[in-house]
Amino acid sequence: MSFDDRRRNVRSLLFFLVALLGTVVLTFAGSFAAAADRDVAQAPRYTPTALDQQLPPAPDARPGPRVALTFDDGPSAQLTPYVLDVLAAKRVRATFFLQGENAERYPDLVRRVQAEGHVVGNHAWQHAWFPDLSAEEAESEIARTNDLLTELTGVRPTLFRYPFGQPSPGGDAALARLGMTGGVHWKWTSDKEGDFQCPGPDAMVDFVVTEAVDQAMLLLHDANDAISCSPDQLQYLPRAIDELRARGFTFGVVAPSPVPSALNGGSLAAVVP
Ligand SMILES: [Zn+2]
Repeated sequence: MSFDDRRRNVRSLLFFLVALLGTVVLTFAGSFAAAADRDVAQAPRYTPTALDQQLPPAPDARPGPRVALTFDDGPSAQLTPYVLDVLAAKRVRATFFLQGENAERYPDLVRRVQAEGHVVGNHAWQHAWFPDLSAEEAESEIARTNDLLTELTGVRPTLFRYPFGQPSPGGDAALARLGMTGGVHWKWTSDKEGDFQCPGPDAMVDFVVTEAVDQAMLLLHDANDAISCSPDQLQYLPRAIDELRARGFTFGVVAPSPVPSALNGGSLAAVVP
């Protein structure tokens, strides 16, 4: 075998290996995407009631106490479709702080959140503990997520919420450089448990109604720990919305504001129709 023959053989072997690797990667990515679609198709769904169909359309700009429902960590196949169904049926706009790696897994759900009139905010790529990140890592968590959300929705998010509500100087510097508002915090002044602690539907209605005051940003979740709770916990959402409406509340979304909101942990943000 000549030197040239040997070189040709090595080259064909390399070509074969690269092609094989490519096929394996594409097959794996394909079945991963198909699995994600199947998960979404199997999620619990909400059926609008006759009463829902008589509700006024959003946005609801009537004066009076206004709260923002904010959903963190999503999207997820298990919870997000139901949450979106309820919000659509109840004519409520909400604010979703999406996690980059979940947005990458469920791009269609991200597009649905945007298409149904909700505000899309950034909740970092993999729910990192920002105080432990370098300045470069902090910027990457935020910028990479913003780039993906922009690509999927056509709108560049301006709101950022720190995972665990834990800020860092590197994160703050990145937000300033990117022209973003954050961290957007929330109101939580009672000793009630939140949805990620799985207290069940009755306790969740109680949590939402207890924390609701004018301009409150209520912390809720449509992924991560909340997925491990019993699926019937989600039934709190239509009930809590009906209860707040009965008490005269309207529902708004989070928007940047130059005035810190003491009610919401000093967030430079307000609840607007
Ligand atoms: Zn979170």
